[in-house]
Amino acid sequence: MTVSLTVPVHDRNPLVAARSQLADAIGLLDLGHGMLDMLATPRREVTVSVPLRRDDGSVEVLVGHRVQHNLSRGPAKGGVRFSPDVSLDEVRALAMWMTWKCALVNIPYGGAKGGVAFDPRVYSRGEIQRVTRRYTSEIMPILGPTTDIPAPDIGTDEQVMSWMMDTYSVNRGHTVLGVVTGKPVALGGSLGRASATSRGVVHVALAALAHRGIAVRGASAAVQGFGKVGRDAALLLAEAGARVVAVSDQYGAVHDPDGLDVPALAHHVDATGSVVGFAASEPMDAGDDLLFLDLDLLVPAAVEAVLNADNAHRVRASVVAEGANGPTTPAADAVLADAGVLVVPDILANAGGVIVSYFEWVQANQAYWWSEDDVNARLAERMQAAWEAVVACAARRDISLRRAATTLAVETVANAHLARGLYP
Ligand code: NAD
Repeated sequence: MTVSLTVPVHDRNPLVAARSQLADAIGLLDLGHGMLDMLATPRREVTVSVPLRRDDGSVEVLVGHRVQHNLSRGPAKGGVRFSPDVSLDEVRALAMWMTWKCALVNIPYGGAKGGVAFDPRVYSRGEIQRVTRRYTSEIMPILGPTTDIPAPDIGTDEQVMSWMMDTYSVNRGHTVLGVVTGKPVALGGSLGRASATSRGVVHVALAALAHRGIAVRGASAAVQGFGKVGRDAALLLAEAGARVVAVSDQYGAVHDPDGLDVPALAHHVDATGSVVGFAASEPMDAGDDLLFLDLDLLVPAAVEAVLNADNAHRVRASVVAEGANGPTTPAADAVLADAGVLVVPDILANAGGVIVSYFEWVQANQAYWWSEDDVNARLAERMQAAWEAVVACAARRDISLRRAATTLAVETVANAHLARGLYP
């Protein structure tokens, strides 16, 4: 199979976006079609049916996937997503981005991703547990602490990780802490893991503001998504002195030009389940409107392709730090680059999660746990090193941060392939 170097860009399909970024990097590195074909093609894919007995006794059959994109540098690593939008192409794209992310921050993993196509918000806790356990047992032949290590993503959390770990361990006959990351601290999780992705996003967002000569104190910021990534990103930005003027979730958005009281907003979300109705704010007409505010910093931390060919020309932020995976389509990337917007790409900006997942795995394998200060210091060190490497590569090649990050990562993975050679 030959994958064209000029992949047509069907805006908003994440796999097309991921492949076009790869093709661009392969072109810049002059690595040729063979390497492009190898890296464009997932190493292993499993699609499973997940029969679920509903609480009312009826049976529903859900569909799940696990894709291991690349295994050249170590075990596959990547989140599990529970969302009605999960598709094989989406999981393939997310797995490929995980490969680049792990290579960019120099952790010894390949990339994977998984998901089950259902909306956990409309299922009971017992039903979610049964889905998790059945999905885990269906993909168990390819899971393991030295083969493939899942983590939380959209719609999953530390409880889901505990059920996955328990299902795997019960079937193996002994406790295997290192088979998943993002577990509760009480069950071998790492201190600092829960906020690690957000901490990493904020680390590079502040570096990017400084790069642009913008002082963080009083800088205006908006965060799309108030889940595991967006919530702590908003809290940490406010703590750093930024004015968080707007926040959204899938139900709507709230706005205050003087800066929202983010801790109070977090309490409101705990009590009501949404940012909507937060008293000390104005509602926005459409949730997406926050993407187009006049901002120093925009943090998309929800889903893919929210910045696309139809709306990128409306973005007025100086810096975009991608908390989400794939929030900017290739067409939008070109528009933002022309407009002089500094985009810190997902594989750099949100790498804090997998960095501390790696720390959690190391700690679990050694059965020796580190202090939270130690975890945060090591996280900051790796984020800073990756930021500096990407900025230097972008300057050297006169390319965007995304092209630089992807190129560095693809080069690392390609070198591993070349060193190992092609079997047989
Ligand atoms: P989550 O399920 O905890 O939260 C998602 C949030 O986005 C929720 O607040 C939801 O209401 C909101 N949302 C969904 N659709 C929206 C829309 N159209 N507009 C506005 N808000 C919307 O998920 P998460 O773990 O925070 O993941 C968010 C993104 O970050 C995903 O792209 C994920 O792949 C990426 N990511 C997560 C991690 C992690 O450690 N959790 C690590 C790296 C990257």
